[in-house]
Amino acid sequence: MQDCIFCKIVRGEIPAKKVFETDEVLAFDDINPVAPVHVVVVPKRHIATLNDAADGDAQTLGRLLLAAKSVAAAKGLAQGGYRAVVNTMAGAGQVVFHVHIHVFGGRALRWPPG
Ligand code: AMP
Ligand code: ZN
Repeated sequence: MQDCIFCKIVRGEIPAKKVFETDEVLAFDDINPVAPVHVVVVPKRHIATLNDAADGDAQTLGRLLLAAKSVAAAKGLAQGGYRAVVNTMAGAGQVVFHVHIHVFGGRALRWPPG
């Protein structure tokens, strides 16, 4: 059993505001939003970083991206635009080592990101 904050949310040991859920993935509001809409989408099975994903994780990763699309639609961002981001390793700002997609929008988003 993983001592990981997102695994604990998946197991219901830490509360979260669920946005979308399937048997493979869970999406919930980010506790520290950087935009009016900011949702974190995680696989229910622990994968630490994108670096740790293997060919056998292809379906899970595909489901994760499709869940991000569903979250964006549910939050009303589909037409106005949103960003789906996977921070990988500390240099990119990853602080929770359970792979996740940030889905955020609801304000103008600059490019390139910082
Ligand atoms: P990252 O920096 O890419 O690892 O992103 C981790 C994200 O998880 C951050 O945006 C945090 O605000 C968010 N986060 C951490 N703990 C929780 C929690 N208990 N519930 C919801 N979001 C969380
Ligand atoms: Zn985990």
